[in-house]
Amino acid sequence: MEQDTISAISTPIGEGAIAIVRLSGDEAFSIANRIFSGKDLEDVDSHTIHYGSLKDPKTNEKVEEVMVSVMRAPKTFTREDIIEINCHGGMVSVNRVLQLVLREGARLAEPGEFTKRAFLNGRIDLSQAEAVMDLIRSKTDRAMSVALKQMDGRLSHLIRTLRQELIETVAHVEVNIDYPEYDDVEEMTNTMLVEKASYVQKEIKKILQTAKQGKILREGIATAIIGRPNVGKSSLLNVLAHENKAIVTEIPGTTRDVIEEYVNVRGVPLRLIDTAGIRETEDIVEKIGVERSRQALQDADLILLVLNGSEEWTKEDEALFEAAKDLDVIVLINKTDLEQKIDMEAVKKAAGDFPIITTSLLEEQGIDRLEESIAETFFEGEIDSGDLTYVSNVRHIQLLEQAEKSLDDALEGIELDMPLDLVQIDITRTWELLGEIIGDNVNESLIDQLFSQFCLGK
Ligand code: GDP
Ligand code: ZN
Repeated sequence: MEQDTISAISTPIGEGAIAIVRLSGDEAFSIANRIFSGKDLEDVDSHTIHYGSLKDPKTNEKVEEVMVSVMRAPKTFTREDIIEINCHGGMVSVNRVLQLVLREGARLAEPGEFTKRAFLNGRIDLSQAEAVMDLIRSKTDRAMSVALKQMDGRLSHLIRTLRQELIETVAHVEVNIDYPEYDDVEEMTNTMLVEKASYVQKEIKKILQTAKQGKILREGIATAIIGRPNVGKSSLLNVLAHENKAIVTEIPGTTRDVIEEYVNVRGVPLRLIDTAGIRETEDIVEKIGVERSRQALQDADLILLVLNGSEEWTKEDEALFEAAKDLDVIVLINKTDLEQKIDMEAVKKAAGDFPIITTSLLEEQGIDRLEESIAETFFEGEIDSGDLTYVSNVRHIQLLEQAEKSLDDALEGIELDMPLDLVQIDITRTWELLGEIIGDNVNESLIDQLFSQFCLGK
């Protein structure tokens, strides 16, 4: 397949000491050769890396010191010739390198185009291609490992196994339709159909159950930090993030807008949301405070409810508990370094079964116990760190839901004693839907596979 040569910066912009400009396509080597001085890259062994410098062929000016990786097709990610130019990570220098290769004839790659080529050239299947996208976008360690597993073909493998089951089922139905005179064949067929269809349906349900977890893993557990103004919400966010991105201030209500921070607490990915913007003005403070917190609560998987131990327990604190009562809550009594005035009995009564942690965020006391509590809440819940094949891609989820539904139809058909060829339509449909996940689906191919695998004696 003749493809133009594409190029893009393949490392996050502005991050890291080294940046990579990647080229893929027929012209990759010749473009690189025109700007690289060191050796002839067409001549070197595949999968080797070479030190040299880049020169602007127009001015003959040296642009950059670089390391160039040479990877010859077909054993590359895209199955095309690939050149990777490793240069200094600064914006200016990577951009200069990119401009240079573009001027020498490469085209700027569209987002995901390298992956698309890998798919089109048969290097990876569709769900793997999507996993690469997820990987690029993944914000947490765990999400990354899920994407890696998927890229590794776990989901594909599982889907293939299920499709295989369905093909066998269809084969049996075929036999039955062809030889309806054998009663016991029909008996067997019905029992087997129900068995197989239920089995595949159960497996699909299992995969679908991981969908929510997949989302959580990819996006982090939405964690809302709520509490009255000045209790230490932003401080908590900062302590957990171990860096000072949110503004902490002496003046109540000066943090504006909602601040988000991704953190990894003992392997648990959290997307922390500081419900900032809660303003302490004379009259409307209680309303707005609770109102804002309520909003954040709606989308949250976990609530960190912060109280100020050095102040009296207030009606507003009570209102926050009321608003959060059906959610997973961890209660923090903060500012333990100051004289304590809060009514502990009132707190305990309001908190019920929620864990209560005492902290001094100012002196970084109690953070360990808080982190422990977060990890416990997470791991004791439905989510475990295990080996499940997670599905987190919206398209996959929709296809799986449809597949599950069409198996329902099949099972219902059997129960209602519908003609087998109608039941078979639903099962074939399921097979097709699952096929769309991994990107191979066409009717003839079902038939082809059927007849290549089962000799039906026709
Ligand atoms: P928010 O309005 O709830 O986000 O509260 P901030 O995190 O902005 O904190 C308000 C003020 O309380 C700041 O001056 C913090 O330094 C201070 N503060 C936060 N935690 C503690 C603590 O544990 N002890 C003391 N003494 N002050 C704290
Ligand atoms: Zn704040």
